[in-house]
Amino acid sequence: MRSALRTCPICDAVCGLRLELGGDNRVASVKGDQDDPFSKGFICPKGASLGTLDEDPHRLRNPMVRKDGEWVEVSWDEAFQTVERGLQGVIDAHGRDALAVYFGNPTFHTMAGFMYRMPLTQSLGTRNVYSASTIDQAPKQVACGLMLGDPFAIAVPDLDRTDYLMVIGANPVESNGSLCAAPDFPRRLKALRERGGKLVVVDPRRTRTAAVADEHHFVRPGTDAYLLLGIVHTLLAENLTSIDIEVNGLDELRRLAADFTPQAAARECGVPAEDIARLARELAAAPTAAVYTRIGTCTAEFGTLTQWLVDTVNILTGNFDRPGGVMFTRPAIAEIFRPREPFALGQWRSRVKELPEAMGELPVATLADEIETPGQGQVRALVTVAGNLVLSAPNGPRLDRAFADLDFMVCVDPYLNETTKHANVILPPPRMLQMPHYDFLLLTVTVRNYARFSPQILPLEAGQVSEAEILARLSLIAAGQGADADPAMLDEMIVGQVLGGAVEAPGSPFAGRTVADLRAGLQGDSGPELMLDALLQLGAYGLSLADLLAKPHGIDLGPLEPRLPELVRTASGRVELAPALLAGDVGRLRERLAAPAPEILLIGRRQLRSNNSWLHNVPVLVGGSNRCTLHVNPGDVARLGLGERALVRSAAGELVVAVEPTDAIMPGVVSLPHGWGHSGDGQPVATENAGVNANALTDESVIDVLSGNAVFNGVPVTVSAAP
Ligand code: SF4
Repeated sequence: MRSALRTCPICDAVCGLRLELGGDNRVASVKGDQDDPFSKGFICPKGASLGTLDEDPHRLRNPMVRKDGEWVEVSWDEAFQTVERGLQGVIDAHGRDALAVYFGNPTFHTMAGFMYRMPLTQSLGTRNVYSASTIDQAPKQVACGLMLGDPFAIAVPDLDRTDYLMVIGANPVESNGSLCAAPDFPRRLKALRERGGKLVVVDPRRTRTAAVADEHHFVRPGTDAYLLLGIVHTLLAENLTSIDIEVNGLDELRRLAADFTPQAAARECGVPAEDIARLARELAAAPTAAVYTRIGTCTAEFGTLTQWLVDTVNILTGNFDRPGGVMFTRPAIAEIFRPREPFALGQWRSRVKELPEAMGELPVATLADEIETPGQGQVRALVTVAGNLVLSAPNGPRLDRAFADLDFMVCVDPYLNETTKHANVILPPPRMLQMPHYDFLLLTVTVRNYARFSPQILPLEAGQVSEAEILARLSLIAAGQGADADPAMLDEMIVGQVLGGAVEAPGSPFAGRTVADLRAGLQGDSGPELMLDALLQLGAYGLSLADLLAKPHGIDLGPLEPRLPELVRTASGRVELAPALLAGDVGRLRERLAAPAPEILLIGRRQLRSNNSWLHNVPVLVGGSNRCTLHVNPGDVARLGLGERALVRSAAGELVVAVEPTDAIMPGVVSLPHGWGHSGDGQPVATENAGVNANALTDESVIDVLSGNAVFNGVPVTVSAAP
């Protein structure tokens, strides 16, 4: 037996793990790493299953090519040559905008996913760039971009010091945080209450987070912006504000919020007016307070408005960039992803529906339009990296049909699944334990400054290809360098650009050094490790890969500290409280005031042992409470005459699903988890526990207009007894 340390790569919480491996390199046990200064031994059921997940016998080991409808294992060289022919054929016939690329959520968790995302995108040279961002987080980034000028300036609640936490549309007891890395969120919430603080949860479901709160309010799905405007109205009307940062637009904000009295807000959101006003007063009176919101509000029709209003409340109550309020992480790596110019939305538009680009991407809700609609720029080839769009994107069944019609598709994915079954070529990355790990992106949203690197635990087997090499070779093929081009060439180019940027940046502490000089000081066994060492050495703490290797349990870099002025990138240099695009969208919200509410709204739900679609082939993570059922309030069960199964219909489609009555969901709302609906023989455990595809009901034509984010929460449906 031997021990190995590893950051868990499954979700955003970045927990430190200790693995025991047998002589055969099989994982015998996975426990929380007690010596990790951030996660302190915490582990959840998903992390405990890392060994089983990693050793899943149904993961693909070799590249696969579909020939005459049959899957055939081929050599890596043949696979890359097939990709070159496929992509080049489409480029020659239709041009580069006929290519599309989609980056799934797991690409945010791997070093190679971070390093090669931009090179691959640039090499493809297409405007058809899509990612999981427009499935669940674009509204947050667009709101930050419009208010602060930087879509990556995302404030996290200062969880361990706040006196008052309001959680809206998030369930961190089960998720352990999202866009807010906080391993063992439950312990941190318990500590908040033990030090006399208050936890308030606003959610259409009484989630596990709501169950440990001081106060829980049911809210109608998709109406959080009304609730928050009611709070803003109260803060302004009762002179409860204490703004202590440089802002613009306070008068315009006052004008925008004028109509949204607590009474008006209550009519829409269902939270009583006196509670809305009281919550505003409590937020203002608390010594420190933080409002945190996540998926439930990002995936709704007014997602961007809601994210804006959350930070507006944090600003008005004096809790923005302040200990105990919401703050910005100072990561160990150089923040090369931050823009130099103010954020701009809609630098180009999608071809068919003219939806605006955001952060270099188009909304995934319009990918099927771009594939199906003929004309110049029609998508004819697709590259996916770690994404199962048929299960995770809105109107998955339509994408299922659209993918079948593509001229060429290549997927970087370890599974043959509902999406990759359409590929011509599948390129499987190695197992997670065969990769080094550093969370480039998640460590920029930690609730305490922290860094941890995990070296590769298991070697690559003979003939295996690293994820870095797969993505580098794809990038080189897309750039016209051919299937045999040397990936090391690309690595040197990327690292050289990073170092060159540091040398040339105005006021850089590295001015006067040369790229060759800096490059000579880097260590690493792969492109991503060299990149990490470069970014660490250029970063705020002057660390290096060697420093992280010497501290395998991770390094605590201290509590969050105020840093807003260095982050603001708006043209005015101030935080914009009422940017024109957001102010304009308030009109859309106002129009809805008079609209009749649908009788039943569908929402999603987070499950402790699930993470989107990719964990369902692990036997211990399916079954029990982790079932794909429709949560229905018992009153609605009786009123609608439901039995064991219900027929659910929306504008997009219909499905039949098992009913689970529970008073944890508010009347008039039903809940279905996403990521289910498995089929095929690539993942037999998942198929045996198939569930239904919630995205057969989500309507891809309904989006949050500012961010283009799909609307998964608050979908109007009818529910009746299944025949
Ligand atoms: S909370 Fe997330 S990071 Fe932590 S052990 Fe569970 S899956 Fe892994």
